[in-house]
Amino acid sequence: MKKRILVTGGAGFLGSHLCDRLLKEDCDVLCVDNYYTGSKQNIAHLLDHQYFEIIRQDITFPLYVEAEQIYNLACPASPVHYQRDPVQTTKTSVHGAINMLGLAKRVKARILQASTSEVYGDPEVHPQTEDYLGRVNPIGIRSCYDEGKRCAETLFFDYYRQYNLGIKVVRIFNTYGPRMHPNDGRVVSNFIVQALRGEDITIYGGGQQTRSFCYVDDLVEGLIRMMNSPAQVVGPINLGNPSEFTIRELAEKVLRFTESRSKLIFMPLPQDDPQQRQPDISQAREKLGWQPAVSVDDGLKETIAYFKRLFG
Ligand code: NAD
Ligand code: UDP
Ligand code: UDP
Repeated sequence: MKKRILVTGGAGFLGSHLCDRLLKEDCDVLCVDNYYTGSKQNIAHLLDHQYFEIIRQDITFPLYVEAEQIYNLACPASPVHYQRDPVQTTKTSVHGAINMLGLAKRVKARILQASTSEVYGDPEVHPQTEDYLGRVNPIGIRSCYDEGKRCAETLFFDYYRQYNLGIKVVRIFNTYGPRMHPNDGRVVSNFIVQALRGEDITIYGGGQQTRSFCYVDDLVEGLIRMMNSPAQVVGPINLGNPSEFTIRELAEKVLRFTESRSKLIFMPLPQDDPQQRQPDISQAREKLGWQPAVSVDDGLKETIAYFKRLFG
């Protein structure tokens, strides 16, 4: 019998790569998505697969299906997308989590939540360990995402304590790769698209803020290891690449790899934009035997190749 797996947000960037990987591992995959930020194009190559199914559905509404494992990825992830309809963003995180947890409880499925480094807010602790409680503004423009994801974590842990549900919570740090949305406003896609089109590269602030970028294949490996880890490993566990650099360094790498002559320009830093972000992945190393394997240079080259194909 093939393992039946539900992936919410399966037509998105991370979700579509996860579906690819699960099908390669001989699973029966049900993808649920409302195409808010995802696209049919991301999963077009899977539509003829015998063990791939898709339901167009908003997870803020109840869903009655069967599954043994649920990966809950549905949620817009980039600031541009999650700020477009902030009320819907909170609903997706909170009502969506309640529905998927209710579903998991009914069918006794294991359920994994794709949480985020954003639960740490603009952190005073560096690098961030899972026991850091965060510094999040509850009323800012990022709050719909940050607080929504924090409340989803609360719900996961209460279903665990109250109903003994098999939960897994991972906190994903900036991830990039092919099938990122070209207009999602995230830094990697923005810089690559700008460089390929010969447009100015928009650095927000002085470009001295840091991030650490994980390639999508590494991240998917981490999700699968977490889902299949022993029952007592519930998380939260950070997944990300600890190699940290400044946004300016990223811009310079993109210029070099695209051989672009775009200019760097400096624009205002958005509100609540964290100055530093780097995961401490000791727990993932120890409990999942996981660490990223793809270097940023290799990952960027793959991603640039994808955007070149996309733009013909
Ligand atoms: P994405 O926007 O490409 O994918 C999200 C998917 O969820 C899309 O296909 C979208 O259509 C779908 N969706 C949104 N709201 C929905 C709803 N109410 N019902 C059903 N489907 C809905 O984003 P992504 O980068 O693939 O992120 C996937 C998950 O990982 C998100 O939960 C995100 O918060 C989390 N995450 C991603 C990153 C990253 O760097 N990519 C970092 C931290 C956390
Ligand atoms: N739910 C769902 N699919 C299911 C089971 C439940 O979508 O297969 C939703 C349903 O809308 C419910 C929510 O999950 O309101 C929470 O379910 P739970 O059983 O925890 O609570 P209750 O049904 O008591 O509200
Ligand atoms: N950023 C930038 N130029 C852009 C897009 C983003 O300088 O065109 C900066 C942004 O201000 C932030 C960093 O790059 O400091 C990462 O931004 P992103 O939105 O990708 O992710 P997040 O802020 O969620 O880590």
